[in-house]
Amino acid sequence: MTNPLLADWTGPFSLPPFAQMEDDQFGPAIETGLTVARANIAAIAANPEPPTFANVIEALEEAEALLNRVAGLFYTVSGADSTPAREALMRDLAPKMAAFSSEIIMNEALYQRIAVLWRAREAQGLTPEQDRMLELYHRMFIRAGAALSGAEAARMAEIKSRLAVLYTQFSQNLLADERAWSHPLTEEDLAGLPSSLAAAARAAGEERGEAGPVLTLSRSLVVPFLQFSDNRELRRIAYEAWTARGANGNETDNTELLNEILSLREERAKLLGYESFAAYKLETEMAGSPDNVRGLLMGVWGPAKAAAEADADVLTEMLHKDGTNGPLEPWDWRYYSEKRRVAEFDFDEEALKPYLSLDAMIGAAFDVANRLFGLEFSEIDGPFYHADVRGWEVTRKGQHIAVFLGDYHARGSKRSGAWCTAMRSQKKLGGETRPIVMNVCNFAKGDPTLLSHDDARTLFHEFGHALHQMLSDVTYEFISGTSVARDFVELPSQLYEHWLDVPEVLQKHARHYKTGEAIPQDLQDKLKAAATYDQGFSTVEYLASALVDLDFHEGAAPKDALARQAEVLAEIGMPHAIRMRHAAPHFGHVFSGDGYSAGYYSYMWSEVMDADAFEAFEEAGGPFDPAMAEKLEDWILSKGGSQEAETLYKGFRGRMPGVEALLKGRGLLDKV
Ligand SMILES: [Zn+2]
Repeated sequence: MTNPLLADWTGPFSLPPFAQMEDDQFGPAIETGLTVARANIAAIAANPEPPTFANVIEALEEAEALLNRVAGLFYTVSGADSTPAREALMRDLAPKMAAFSSEIIMNEALYQRIAVLWRAREAQGLTPEQDRMLELYHRMFIRAGAALSGAEAARMAEIKSRLAVLYTQFSQNLLADERAWSHPLTEEDLAGLPSSLAAAARAAGEERGEAGPVLTLSRSLVVPFLQFSDNRELRRIAYEAWTARGANGNETDNTELLNEILSLREERAKLLGYESFAAYKLETEMAGSPDNVRGLLMGVWGPAKAAAEADADVLTEMLHKDGTNGPLEPWDWRYYSEKRRVAEFDFDEEALKPYLSLDAMIGAAFDVANRLFGLEFSEIDGPFYHADVRGWEVTRKGQHIAVFLGDYHARGSKRSGAWCTAMRSQKKLGGETRPIVMNVCNFAKGDPTLLSHDDARTLFHEFGHALHQMLSDVTYEFISGTSVARDFVELPSQLYEHWLDVPEVLQKHARHYKTGEAIPQDLQDKLKAAATYDQGFSTVEYLASALVDLDFHEGAAPKDALARQAEVLAEIGMPHAIRMRHAAPHFGHVFSGDGYSAGYYSYMWSEVMDADAFEAFEEAGGPFDPAMAEKLEDWILSKGGSQEAETLYKGFRGRMPGVEALLKGRGLLDKV
């Protein structure tokens, strides 16, 4: 019997054979895909002909076509709708897929063919997109260490495996510290806390076999405790324990690991020919260099610190009114800030929800895309991979653009969070292939399903990523859609969130599901005020972490990371009542792996860009300015990674992004 996953997908829009697919077909189909890909790659590496763009790069692009098609389906479906069989297969495939990629990247003969091409790139007569492809492939091999040999290659392998051990140790120590600590609470300590928080403390006590309620370092317990507990001494104890994770001077202390990790990273970067680890990490990012990152962060630091200091004055006054003398301490901030929020900016989320039904918000996201890019959405019949999934054909002027699948409801078989993924990416090599793009969310099902403002923003965010995939217009899959630098990929999604709060969009779509009445103005105003509340504090605690992360990875690695951290904080004048969001001994983003090392800045980099990009519309003629919409599609949404992110942004905006729009958006501008 033939495996339907391996046959050409011939249904409408070449959708996968959802109706015929069975769990037991995935494993064999992916194994076949791997076998075919390996044979193709071996043939490319052993080709006796001189290397050309077609027989190396384009051949590599096509080598994994079958594997990508089948694995693309398997991973997108199992993320959104897992079964025990799918989970078992994922575990089984993880080492096989990892081995397959390292086989390619360490394939000496293959690298040599790419290196020959690279050296002769001028003579190849390449299109700009092909030139970019060659550059990216070559860089990928270099960064993985393919050009190293002998002792250097051996040392690189040693560093990589030692780092992997240290990353795991770091996370495990952190987890152990989080689990080990608890502090007994009396029923009296719980008085005045929200009932859900008191219940969580009782449940934590039961779970640990204690006689009464306890405080633990679980974020969902300790953060609300700091917000709501009237007992200042308990808040201090909780805060000190929480911020001491990974630095308790016992066998789970992370301090020595930090120093070793930083020094190995520096050595690794130097082996590969980079000046520092930060230079190595930032090479592939839009930011490009440590100086650019520092420039951006410091541009925000001054106004954020000024705002935080003004807020600290208000909170200190509240503290003194409570009869406590002395300075505001870090364990006071959340407590007084919450009291101030209730007094000045409170609004009821529940009152907003009836205006934000799921159907209305899907309609709003589609309508905005129609007004900006002329896209039309018509619902198509399934079956898809689950009964909750809805599908739409996306067209423009009658032309097929993409299939969009919306999988919005929470269920047990779905992992948590929200994401956008392409079951099939856009490309032109081997014939025009239009994408199948999914948005997956976890909205609690209701009748009708009503969203919080956060949920609605998530829906717009993921739809922004979907547009980046659907409007992609490049030749090669390697650079299609969202295949861009990490500090650039959130631009389309975060930018799209801005349209949710455009008054005319809310007026038209955010209507009460029963009465059809538009969202009241005072609710809109409170929503806006809530969005900028306490931004001085959150910006300062974030920036301090980002600046320390950057400093650690520039130049020579510090011998004593904690001492260096203290110096950086002193240099920037960290306010007394605020500490780093993540101090080094529990900075998992940076020390549990390489994902965000020298990269914690990127959250803010993206926000700077989305604020600046939306302002371009406002400057030009409003949120639906047609010329700006055209530029957004031409320079960003259609281009994928076919050019440097900086070039694309400048093409759209005429200049690099500035921080003013972000400061305005966070309510920090008037504080300077
Ligand atoms: Zn995103």
